[in-house]
Amino acid sequence: MGSNLNVQTDIAANLRKVHSAIVAALEAADRDGGEVDLVAVSKIHPAERVRLALESGHRFFGENRVQEAAAKWPALKEEFPQARLHLIGPLQTNKVRDVLPLFDVIETVDRPKLARTLAAEMSNQGRRPVCFVQVNTGEEGQKAGVLPSAADAFIEECRGDLELPIAGLMCIPPVDEEPAMHFALLAKIAARNGLSRLSMGMSHDFEIAIAFGATEVRVGTAIFGRRPT
Ligand SMILES: *Cc1c(COP(=O)(O)O)cnc(C)c1O
Repeated sequence: MGSNLNVQTDIAANLRKVHSAIVAALEAADRDGGEVDLVAVSKIHPAERVRLALESGHRFFGENRVQEAAAKWPALKEEFPQARLHLIGPLQTNKVRDVLPLFDVIETVDRPKLARTLAAEMSNQGRRPVCFVQVNTGEEGQKAGVLPSAADAFIEECRGDLELPIAGLMCIPPVDEEPAMHFALLAKIAARNGLSRLSMGMSHDFEIAIAFGATEVRVGTAIFGRRPT
């Protein structure tokens, strides 16, 4: 490993590289000038490395563990008020109170009990982070997300009585399958429900996701390098 200076150059250079790839993917998909938010997934990386991305002007970040984010982000957000933090990992109902003040986007709304708890706590706190419904497009037993067959009813429940600010859908395709059909399915469910935002695509497949209409891509490794173990 090189000095800190090199690391900073790396992260800034990686961000530029991913941004260029996003622009190229938008053009290839005839979505020229279309909008894709690059969510830099900083999980496991220490605050010093995250700060390098913030110093280079990057704005959107993603964390998958509430506890880790609560330890790392309050100080970073104070220092960089423009930062916007996305929760991209599972949310337990007993953590809802803690996540509302910290996160600006919650991408993993996936069950009625969580939706009800979010709605109640949003009224309590008067803070309403944008929400995405996570869909388990691969119907994997261990994976979070509402099943595709139950998505329409769940989205209706969230937006109807609960009045959650649902902006779009999110998915994590199975690791051993072509992601394209999962991205296409997510886009189809969003379209028939009138939702415009799609969070899909990671380091290895964000360009494919953009071809299928992604409006947020969640990229970790291609920006920060491999996560320490
Ligand atoms: C870790 C993670 C990512 C980023 O994965 P990379 O392969 O490092 O880009 C994206 N989405 C979710 C939900 C994650 O947990």
